[in-house]
Amino acid sequence: MSALILSGRDVSIAVRAEVAERVEALRQKGRTVGLATVLVGDDAASKVYLRNKHRAAEAAGMLSFDRHLPDTASQADVEGVIAELNADGRVDGMIIQLPLPDGLDGEAAVEMVDPRKDADGLHPFNLGRLVLSRPGPLPATPGGIMRILDHYGIETAGKIAVIVGRSFLVGRPLGLLLGAKGVDATVINAHSRTPGLAGVCREADILVAAVGRPKMFDERFVKSGATVIDVGISRTDDGVVGDVDFDAVVDIAGAMTPVPGGVGPMTIATLMANTVSLAEQKDI
Ligand code: NAP
Repeated sequence: MSALILSGRDVSIAVRAEVAERVEALRQKGRTVGLATVLVGDDAASKVYLRNKHRAAEAAGMLSFDRHLPDTASQADVEGVIAELNADGRVDGMIIQLPLPDGLDGEAAVEMVDPRKDADGLHPFNLGRLVLSRPGPLPATPGGIMRILDHYGIETAGKIAVIVGRSFLVGRPLGLLLGAKGVDATVINAHSRTPGLAGVCREADILVAAVGRPKMFDERFVKSGATVIDVGISRTDDGVVGDVDFDAVVDIAGAMTPVPGGVGPMTIATLMANTVSLAEQKDI
């Protein structure tokens, strides 16, 4: 039987509609909601991601501010722009589009963002709160994945979750969320040094592929009936491709996200949700 397709696109439409209602509620109290992005250089993929984020912000009724620096910008230039946005009362959420060009320190730039404006949920303060299971903006991609699982009623308690990839953007925070009390998956965080990776992945009730290698995860990696979440985005001659070989896996998995239309739209929707939450907190 073919896997249930977990449509992040459909879930994101619902999340974005909720966000628009919350933005409107603030507007009725005389408050605007603003999202600012910082891009350094002219990476084509980064520009596409940012365009989509601005469109989503505007569609939700937010103000959006686009700060674009040349790839000759210094660390001090980037941090100067972040300081301006920290001080700008119209800005409730801020995104530093990573990676920054070679020679610049993206993590240091993220650390400059006021944690109360951290739309990406990647500031060390907010990652620390995540470790402590305290509320705060969730890293957008892991937060979006959790919402997909919740929306489709995918059971996590007592399940084995194998996450392949240990970046601070995706794999590590997602491990914290899946292993949190109340979610109760047992998490294995695999990476490039994991021996026997396919066998480890075949143990998974929930398999998350967050590597960035097109179609790496085929039938050898997936247990019958598993839920497969494909985070990967690679641009190839055949268009945008995930880490999972969809055709090889679709008749084995119980449920799976497609690429495109899976995790990507939920990342953007979570950014919007984080931004309106940050604005609401300022409003208290
Ligand atoms: P990253 O920082 O490059 O991390 C990649 C991870 O994959 C690393 O932990 C690495 O292991 C592991 N890895 C690499 N080759 C491997 C192999 N052969 N076997 C097992 N593990 C391997 O990437 P990222 O930022 O987490 O992003 C991962 C993918 O998700 C990319 O395609 C990215 O474009 C995509 N992404 C999508 C979204 C979305 O919204 N859909 C959001 C963010 C990222 P080591 O740590 O051992 O090097």
